[in-house]
Amino acid sequence: MSASMLSFCYLLSCVLFILSIRGLASPETARKGNVLGLVGMVLAIAATIASPSVAEYVWVIIAILLGGGIGTYFALKVKMTSLPQMIAAFNGMGGLSAVFISLAEILSGSDMRIENTLGLIIGAVAFSGSMIAFAKLHGLIKAKAIVFVGQQFLNLILALCSLGVCAYFVISGDIVGFYALAGLCLVLGILIVLPIGGADMPVVISILNAYSGWAGVAIGFSLNNVLLIIVGAIVGASGAILSYIMVKAMNRSLSSVMLGGFGGRHTAAASYQDDAKVAKVGSPEDAAFAMENANKVIIVPGYGMAAAQAQHILKTMGDDLHKKYGVKVMYAIHPVAGRMPGHMNVLLAEANVPYEDVFELEAINREFATADVAYVIGANDVTNPLAKTAPDSPIYGMPVLDVEKAKTVFFVKRSLNSGYSGVENPLFFADNTFMLYGDAKKVTEEIVSVLEK
Ligand code: NDP
Repeated sequence: MSASMLSFCYLLSCVLFILSIRGLASPETARKGNVLGLVGMVLAIAATIASPSVAEYVWVIIAILLGGGIGTYFALKVKMTSLPQMIAAFNGMGGLSAVFISLAEILSGSDMRIENTLGLIIGAVAFSGSMIAFAKLHGLIKAKAIVFVGQQFLNLILALCSLGVCAYFVISGDIVGFYALAGLCLVLGILIVLPIGGADMPVVISILNAYSGWAGVAIGFSLNNVLLIIVGAIVGASGAILSYIMVKAMNRSLSSVMLGGFGGRHTAAASYQDDAKVAKVGSPEDAAFAMENANKVIIVPGYGMAAAQAQHILKTMGDDLHKKYGVKVMYAIHPVAGRMPGHMNVLLAEANVPYEDVFELEAINREFATADVAYVIGANDVTNPLAKTAPDSPIYGMPVLDVEKAKTVFFVKRSLNSGYSGVENPLFFADNTFMLYGDAKKVTEEIVSVLEK
C-alpha cells in the first residue's frame, strides 16, 4: 500500500472514530456509533498491516488472534455490573502496550528519547494504577481507601526521583535509566490509586483512561504514526471530559478525588440507624395499589436495579401501569446513578423503555411535587437529602433527585444499609416513605403479578 493510500485510510478511520464518539453520546444513536467505531478500527488495523513498514506477518497474526480472542471472550462474558473493572483492565493493557512499544523503540536504537520516555511514564502509571483499580472493583483487595502515614510525602519523593531518572535517561540514553524509570512509575501508579475509595473509582478509571490515551499520543510521535496521535488525543480528551462530568455531578473536585477518602466512610451525622427511628415497611400489594390508583408515577433506578437485572420487569410494570390503569409513568435518571455515567440509560434502553419517558435530573426534579408515587428501585445516594442539608457529609453538594416531594415514596432494597458513599439515608424514616425489602427484580415481579391479576 502506498504512503498516500495509508494516510487516506488513517484519515478515514479518524473520521469514523469521531463520528463513533458522537453516536455514543445518546442511547438512540449508540448502536450506530459502536458500528462506526468498529469499522474505523478494522480499517485502521487492515491499513497498518498492509503498510510497507510491516514486513513480518506471523507475529502480527498471533497477536491479533490472541488479543482479539481474549477481548471477545471477556466482552461476551462480562456482566453489566462488572463493566467498570473490565474497562479498568483494558485501560491497563493500553498503558502496558505503550510501555512495551517505548522499550522496543529504545532497544532498536530510536533516538526519540523524550517521546518514548513520555510513553513509558504515562503508560506505566496507567497500567499499574488500572490494575489496582481493577483489583479494588473486583473485590480482590479492599475497595476502601488504603492510607498510611507519610503516603503523600512518599509519592512526592517518588515523583521527584522519576523526574531525575527521566532527565538522566533522556540525556545519557543509558538503558538502566529506562528500566529504573519504568519501576518507579509502576510503583507510583500503585501508590496513587491505593488511597482512593471505592465510590471514586469510576472517576479514577476515567482519568486512567485519559492517561492511556495520552500515552498513545506520545508513542504516536515516537513511531511517527498520525493515527495513534489523533486517536490517543481523542481518548485522552474524552477521558478528561468524562472525569470532569463525573466530579461535577458529584459536586467534588478532581483534587479531592485524587487525595482519596470518599467511599466506605460513615459519618456521625448520618448514623440514623442508631436512633430509635423506625422505617415503615410496605408490601408489593401496597405498592401495586398505590401505583394503579396514581395519576403520575416516577421510577428512580439505581445501582441495585443493575445488580438485580430488574430493568425488563420494571419496563413491564411501567407498561402495565400506563396501558391498564392509564398512569403517567416517567423514569428519572441521576447522572451518577449506578457505577458509571449512562449506566441506567443503557439498561433502560436495553429493556426498550421509550427515550421520551426517560428524564435527566434537572428536567424531572420539578415533577416530583406533582407525582403520587416515587418508586425508587435500588437507588440510594442519588436520593439522599443530606446532600442538600448536611455540610459535614461527604456527599454534601451533590445534586440529588427530590423523591421526597412525591406523595408516597417506595424504596425497593434489601435492607436499611447505606449506598456506595457509606452515608445513611434519612428518607427511609420519612413519614411518606415505605420500604419494600427484597431483591429489586423479585419485588417488582411480585408487584407486576398483582397488577396483572
Ligand atoms: P447506591 O450505591 O447509593 O445504592 C444502591 C442501593 O442498591 C444500595 O443501598 C443497596 O441497598 C441496593 N441494592 C443492591 N443490590 C440490590 C438488589 N439486588 N436488589 C435491591 N436493592 C439492591 O446507588 P445509586 O445508584 O443511588 O448511587 C450511585 C453511587 O455511586 C453514588 O454514591 C455515586 O456518587 C457513586 N458513583 C457513581 C458513578 C457513576 O458514574 N455512576 C461514578 C462514581 C461514583 P441494600 O444493600 O439494602 O439492598
